Amino acid sequence: MDKVIELERRYGATNYHPLPVVLTRGSGCYVWDAQGNRYLDMMSAYSAVSHGHAHPRLLDALQRQAGQLSVVSRAFYTKRLGPFLQRACELTAMDRALPMNSGAEAIETAIKAARKWAYEVKGVAADRAEIIACEGNFHGRTLAAIAMSSAEQYRKNFGPFPPGFKLVAYGNPAALEAAIRPQTAAFFVEPVQGEGGIRVPPSGYLASCAEICARNEVLLVCDEVQTGLGRTGLFLACQHDGVKPDGLLLGKALGGGLYPVSLFLARADVMDLFRPGDHGSTFGGNALAATLGLEALDILVEEGLVENSAEMGRYLRRGLREIESPLVMDVRGRGLLVGLEIDPDRVMARRVCERLLRYGVLTKETHDTVVRLAPPLTIQRDDIDIAVSAIRTTLAEFEQQDDNP
Ligand code: PLP
Repeated sequence: MDKVIELERRYGATNYHPLPVVLTRGSGCYVWDAQGNRYLDMMSAYSAVSHGHAHPRLLDALQRQAGQLSVVSRAFYTKRLGPFLQRACELTAMDRALPMNSGAEAIETAIKAARKWAYEVKGVAADRAEIIACEGNFHGRTLAAIAMSSAEQYRKNFGPFPPGFKLVAYGNPAALEAAIRPQTAAFFVEPVQGEGGIRVPPSGYLASCAEICARNEVLLVCDEVQTGLGRTGLFLACQHDGVKPDGLLLGKALGGGLYPVSLFLARADVMDLFRPGDHGSTFGGNALAATLGLEALDILVEEGLVENSAEMGRYLRRGLREIESPLVMDVRGRGLLVGLEIDPDRVMARRVCERLLRYGVLTKETHDTVVRLAPPLTIQRDDIDIAVSAIRTTLAEFEQQDDNP
């Protein structure tokens, strides 16, 4: 076994189960291992590397800013944060933005903001505010995020959990309406459930939810940590339904794949309830994070990555549908967030990913049945052809094994 794998296993925790490859270099849509083997990255760090590896503009911004000023904390102003927040608000049509680092921290921020709004504006009685979330959601790994989760594995033996969360079926506006009570502060929803298995709700779902929330004085908070920033072929996935949420979460690709940068964005009347000292983060919004965030946003727009995501996503899904393997139960997704559902009675998704690794294609299963395909948004047709061809060969091999056990 590779020495560094041994070291990770010996000294690390076992909370991940990586594929057996040691990566040493990345450029664009490709990464290389220590032996110089090249792999097409069809996973882009769970959608965090949307700009591709080592994007020259991001590297340049990182080096320039790191040599000048990085972390001074929010106890002082820097020249970088204001322009970043302004650009993020302009591009999302939100009024205000609060910077954090990880997606889970942005979620925690949104929960606090929604509760504060419920008590101070909606008039909910102290400690009674409730947040509705969806079955199958993924909002991160903090205690509040797993308190909202319906996944047994994410919760088992981590209780007790903070109260005040309620789950409803995903994709069903009537279930949301029935769950709303006078103390409901907010409805948290992913426009496409990423970790939940690339689940795309029926078209119009989000628009119906927005209408129900508005009618019932409930905040609509869209978690676009994974689906935002062009991943689904529009700048925000909620735009597929023409929806402008009251609160919005961005993360992952916001740091250009180089640095953790997240934002909670919201209406002014929600965000302005925060007072100095109510909430914060030592690293959130530091000059380096803000520089990378702004550069990451500008690149998405200036290099047409959102449009490329829409076009390449269609091309990828068409290629996958043409494979016509009996092992494939479904091909679904939006833009470059694509799920290939494999029949678990024939082969587990993990084994497909392991075999794809041998063919130089990196991806990762979500749950046991779905192969996630979410490459950098810079990907081109030739690269997609390589991925589809490797998937076709891999599935054909498993079919043959099935036929000749
Ligand atoms: N929300 C969504 C929709 C996510 O997909 C994720 C991560 O996969 C998170 C939140 C948590 O982000 P992070 O891992 O940066 O804490």
